[in-house]
Amino acid sequence: MLTAQQLSLNTATVRSQWNLRQAIEGCARHGFGGISPWRDKLEELGAETAARLIRDAGLSVSGLCRGGWYTIASPLDQKAIDDNKKAIDDAATIGAGCLVMVVGGMVPGSKDIAGAREIVEEGLTRSLEYARTCGVKIAIEPLHPMYAADRACVNTMRQALDICDRLGPGIGVAVDVYHVWWDPEVEEQIDRAGPERLMAFHICDWLVPTTDLLLDRGMMGDGVIDIPKLRSRVEVNGFKGLNEVEIFSANNWWKRDADEVMRTIVDRAVDC
Ligand code: ZN
Repeated sequence: MLTAQQLSLNTATVRSQWNLRQAIEGCARHGFGGISPWRDKLEELGAETAARLIRDAGLSVSGLCRGGWYTIASPLDQKAIDDNKKAIDDAATIGAGCLVMVVGGMVPGSKDIAGAREIVEEGLTRSLEYARTCGVKIAIEPLHPMYAADRACVNTMRQALDICDRLGPGIGVAVDVYHVWWDPEVEEQIDRAGPERLMAFHICDWLVPTTDLLLDRGMMGDGVIDIPKLRSRVEVNGFKGLNEVEIFSANNWWKRDADEVMRTIVDRAVDC
C-alpha cells in the first residue's frame, strides 16, 4: 500500500494536459512526494525557475528524463556527448536523484546491434566521468526488447548491470516495471543491483491487449504486472526512493482531466 507522499509524478503521465509549472502545482495539490520532469518541459520553464518552484512546493526530484540517445551516429558523435552534459547540468540544478538514460537503439542504416551497444557503453563512460564531477548519478533504464531498434539496445537488468559492473561507482539502474516485468531473471537481478545501484522505480501497468507499442501503457491495476511483488523486492534490497508513476497513454489518460488522473493514481496506489 502506497500513500501519495510515496509517489512521484513523471511528467509524461500528464504530458498533453500540463506544463511543468502546472505539474508542480498539481503534485503539491494532490500530496505527492516528488516529481520527475522530462527535459522538454524543463526547457520551457527553465531549470533554475523549475528548481525554485519544486523546492517551494516541498517536492523532491526522483529523476530527470532523459539522457542517453548515444547511437545517433557511428562512431560516437560529439553532439550526443554535449547533449548529455547539458542534461547532467540540468539534473544538478534541479537536484534530481538521478539522470535516467534511454541509451539509444540502432545507428541509422546499420544492422550491427553489438556495435550499437559498444557506442552506448562508450557514451555512458564519457557521461559518467562528467556526472561524477557534478555529483549526479546516472541510471540506465533497460527498455523492453521491442524498443531495441529505435530507443534502447540495453534491454534487460542483467545487461544494464553488466555495464554498471564495468563502469564502477555512480552508475546504476532505473527499474521500470513496464520494461522488466516479463524477465525471468528480474528478481535475482534486483538483488544483484543492491541499494547503491537501485536508483529509480517506475510504475504503470501492461495492458492486455496492448494496442500501441509506445503510447498504450496502463494505469496501475488495469494490467498484468505484479507491482507489489517488484516493489517489495527493490525495497528489501534497500531502495528508499519514491514510486514514480510514468504512463504514456495517448488514447486514454492523456485525454482525461489531469486532476482526475492524479486522483486515480492516488486511489490505485493503495493496492500497489
Ligand atoms: Zn521509465
